[in-house]
Amino acid sequence: MLGGTFDPPHWGHLAAGLEVRHQLKLSVVLFVVANDPWQKSASAPVTPAELRLEMARAAVEGFSGLEAGASEIERGGESYMADTLQELRARHPDAELLMVVGSDAAAGLDTWKRPEQLRELATTVVVNRAGRSDRRCPEGWPSVSVEVPALDISSHDIRSRFAQGRPVEALVPRAVAEVVRVRRLYGCSL
Ligand code: ATP
Ligand code: MG
Repeated sequence: MLGGTFDPPHWGHLAAGLEVRHQLKLSVVLFVVANDPWQKSASAPVTPAELRLEMARAAVEGFSGLEAGASEIERGGESYMADTLQELRARHPDAELLMVVGSDAAAGLDTWKRPEQLRELATTVVVNRAGRSDRRCPEGWPSVSVEVPALDISSHDIRSRFAQGRPVEALVPRAVAEVVRVRRLYGCSL
């Protein structure tokens, strides 16, 4: 499980997903698109979930073992990874569940909803994020670290690039940029 806002998804997400899948020999890495990323949406507007799902689907297209997950959107409301893991556990009782987070997100895990349940349901996989030296979860989280290609790419930067007409071609898959243009996201002009 690699949860995120994916506003928009980019090569940093894809490189992390592919590397973790390879190193840990996972059958699938699910990019779970948050319906309402409540820790973010309280302070800044977030693109409608259906459009972020459309971009996530476009991003993983053609990569075997990477999939976009809509379960948080189908559930509606604020998105809690604990609910998502619980749902997956019920659907796949024998699967080993892993929750992939960048080191920036890992630092805040104690602020997520029902952390004790998260710790019980999944092992956390912490991936490095360019420009950050921390690689660890807070104390008490069962976790492993995986070194992924350090791509200094963020959705935040990509949104302002679209808005300002600066280059994004090396930062997001072509199919994602196409959705942004067709749907006129991020104030991008054609
Ligand atoms: P924003 O800039 O809007 O916060 P973001 O680029 O951080 O967006 P998210 O959707 O917030 O993207 O990220 C989802 C998950 O992917 C988080 O756990 C985050 O740490 C991780 N992640 C995002 N970008 C990278 C990257 N370049 N390398 C490794 N992990 C990443
Ligand atoms: Mg982020």
